[in-house]
Amino acid sequence: MSADEGDGSADDRAAAEGGPTVRRLADWDRKTLRSLADEHGTPLYVFDPARVRENCRRLENAFPDAEIQYAAKAHTARETLQTAHDEGLAIECASAGEVRRALRAGIPGQHVTYTAVNPPAADLDYVVDAWREHPDLTITAGAADTIDRLEERGFDGRLRLRINPGVGAGHHEKVVTGGHPKFGAGLDRAPDLAARIAESFAFAGIHAHAGSGISGDDLEDHRELVRRMGDLARDLESSGIPVETVDVGGGFGVPYREDAPALNLDAVADATREALGQIEGQLAIEPGRYVVADAGVLLTRVNTVKEAPEMVVGGVDAGMTTLLRPAMYDAYHAVRNLEQGASDRDAVGVTIAGPVCETADLLCENRPLPRPARGDLLAVGNAGAYGYEMASTYNSRPRPAEVTLAGETLRRAETLADVSRLDAPEPTTPRSHEDQP
Ligand SMILES: *Cc1c(COP(=O)(O)O)cnc(C)c1O
Repeated sequence: MSADEGDGSADDRAAAEGGPTVRRLADWDRKTLRSLADEHGTPLYVFDPARVRENCRRLENAFPDAEIQYAAKAHTARETLQTAHDEGLAIECASAGEVRRALRAGIPGQHVTYTAVNPPAADLDYVVDAWREHPDLTITAGAADTIDRLEERGFDGRLRLRINPGVGAGHHEKVVTGGHPKFGAGLDRAPDLAARIAESFAFAGIHAHAGSGISGDDLEDHRELVRRMGDLARDLESSGIPVETVDVGGGFGVPYREDAPALNLDAVADATREALGQIEGQLAIEPGRYVVADAGVLLTRVNTVKEAPEMVVGGVDAGMTTLLRPAMYDAYHAVRNLEQGASDRDAVGVTIAGPVCETADLLCENRPLPRPARGDLLAVGNAGAYGYEMASTYNSRPRPAEVTLAGETLRRAETLADVSRLDAPEPTTPRSHEDQP
């Protein structure tokens, strides 16, 4: 069928198939980003829900038989949750706050999962209350204690068992969860706990999550985790415990470096199916980063340029309080100067530094970039995942706004008044120095 034969344009069809495997920083339209920065100020997160849609579709094409849950903590804007759900994904939540967001976004309880990691009492109280109204929601627990605490609250609904598979993976030691005793019940304890859940709750299967950043290189770790989960599922089945779902977690990587290849989703899917083997239940995955990373960029403006002997330091209005990943994980994010003609300037070693008095407050260090000038607008790539979500008000700095490519506000900018809004009220009579002891 040709492009003008009635089922939409070639672009529409490409979008239905999931669009390009990756959206690079250079693919974002420079003029649009500049006008958004002019209109909304900087720092500013720009997010494109259309790209979320494409990423969901590629996942569904690669994993047609799996239950796909979007790990909401990567980007919790209502529009993101709704877009992912529209595309057929369920929503995996890491806290009471995320469960609340998902339910308020209209996601039906049967498509909401709460993964409890050392859950605070208030989280369990909230989620068990929510379950009374949405009895189809699923809770995932990874410790006998958590199961006790749910039972004490009267919960007897859908409960999934988190397993510590003994293998982990990730782009940085701080995101490897799979082997750490903090997460999940050991494989040796799993049969007893599963039997207990099957007796007192609706056993909703098993779950494991290796960590973040599966790439072509560590597919072996992923394979090993999936293999162990498949074996466990078969063991449980043969002891008479049906396993509805085998959830092998998220962690699908994205190329942060401009020259890194896109993740080969089909290869991951093939490896997953092969390692899983025959199971009675359904495979589930929980990607977060993969769904939203390349759907967002951060815009920031240069305010100070300093020629240091060994590099040029470009001071900008975004920093570790806006985008924490470089400071926390030594993460690499592509940086692009959006000014007209910037690429004609000489390239120098540039360090992009934020306004916080911490050495870690750098978005990049000694990176070859066009010599920055005061007022330049810079874009930071792959900021859609764990960007806005990890922003803080450290240094009493308001968090930035986040808008869509079309200019709609997803979250307004905080003001200085917002930053101190939780402080105790000011005393009604001002105190002078003399009053103090
Ligand atoms: C964070 C998390 C995910 C998503 O990880 P990504 O690296 O963003 O894909 C999935 N499952 C669990 C339990 C998580 O904690």
